[in-house]
Amino acid sequence: MKVYTFPQGGLHFTDPTAPPVGASVVAFLPVLSVIPLVQHPGAKAVPLVSGGSPVREGMLIGRAQGSLSAHIHATVPGQVVRTVSWEMGEGITNEGLVIRLKGSFDQLGKAEERFPWETLTAEELKQRLIDYGIVEMEGPGHPLADRFASWSALPEPRTLVVRCVFDDPWLVADQVLCRERTQAVAEGSVILGRACGASQVVYAVSAKERKLGTMLLSEAQAYTLPSSLVLVSSRYPQRNDRELELALRSYEKQGKGEHPVQALGSLLIQGPATLAAVRDALVLHRPILDRYVAVGGSAVKKPQIMRVRIGTRIGDLFAECGGFIGEVQRIILGSPFSGRRVLEKNLDGPVIKTTYALSALSAKQTGGTVVRSCIGCGACRTVCPVGLDPEALYKALVVFKHRYKKEKPEPGPGGSSQCHGCGCCDLVCPSRFALVNAALRGA
Ligand code: SF4
Ligand code: SF4
Repeated sequence: MKVYTFPQGGLHFTDPTAPPVGASVVAFLPVLSVIPLVQHPGAKAVPLVSGGSPVREGMLIGRAQGSLSAHIHATVPGQVVRTVSWEMGEGITNEGLVIRLKGSFDQLGKAEERFPWETLTAEELKQRLIDYGIVEMEGPGHPLADRFASWSALPEPRTLVVRCVFDDPWLVADQVLCRERTQAVAEGSVILGRACGASQVVYAVSAKERKLGTMLLSEAQAYTLPSSLVLVSSRYPQRNDRELELALRSYEKQGKGEHPVQALGSLLIQGPATLAAVRDALVLHRPILDRYVAVGGSAVKKPQIMRVRIGTRIGDLFAECGGFIGEVQRIILGSPFSGRRVLEKNLDGPVIKTTYALSALSAKQTGGTVVRSCIGCGACRTVCPVGLDPEALYKALVVFKHRYKKEKPEPGPGGSSQCHGCGCCDLVCPSRFALVNAALRGA
């Protein structure tokens, strides 16, 4: 099968400090969980319980309010100890409920009871997903309720694209989830496709996971919604919406010859973790209770992929991976290449619905913070998938502004508004310029 990709820039990279692709391990259940009342940018859920309240596994404990809000559920049975707030770094404060583990589980260790969803209408399917607090389990974590509103305005036909693209070694948790929960991902994609009025499902799978793609397609063919498989490259940032769409449009164009494909129309792109959660909500009547998380980095003794209850403190996960080797310079939520830095001392922050990776880096891995002069190597221009000149943008937006205290017109033809923040330029710059910040924000 042909492999589709985007036309320019990008890079292949590996990271020996990321956990290897292998079986996941189930993390210990936390004695104390911290369940945040908001797990994405948006409105905080209103707590429905307070200190002393008993809770059951999967019970609604926070009600969504307003736009960009999602219901919050208890992920373990127990008793609410108190409400807490904590610093997440970069000026962000969160609030949550601390639950002490106690009593028996309603779902864990029980035989799965399957509920039929096939006879539900699209509206009923959507409402169930909202009731179970389903959010996108990647990126900032948009609630699906919010997505439904924008999707319904898109012209038909609509194609649900399942993004199984592993262009960053720190996406290994989703890679393993796909392998271990192939049927759930496929069924979830059919359910979501039905809910959002898609006429087909396309599995966009990294060519290195060709076998997985075939398995997903075979599972999906048990349902009536048409489905197909497109192999895409693993060159970063292939999974970005822009680069993924370029690859799929190229497939659509070239597929009109020998193997005609249906018109793709509007693309609704979702990741495998979200689709497995969609399936669990409809088939098991289960909110999001856990997340596959890759835990590693050069300062971690035994990197591994863990299946973790939402609310587990990140310090507990590092401890379960054998603890730290030497001094930790930085802790990152998400990929070290694109994730968010957390406060070094705050190991009490919890795993949330969007936490796919967690890394602790030594000073050697962070490479220090010394910024040198630009050596004009041009590497940033070569890797930019949009065709921008990150060096020129940096000089116009940062150096000129700093020196002359005023803005300089951006160099053409590609301006900073076209930058989508993939970070390729940062990754290759030998002088350690924060080019992505300059390109995105002029800072
Ligand atoms: S972060 Fe922006 S400027 Fe840098 S490579 Fe990506 S798109 Fe280009
Ligand atoms: S990669 Fe860094 S050093 Fe090389 S041209 Fe770009 S900004 Fe200058």
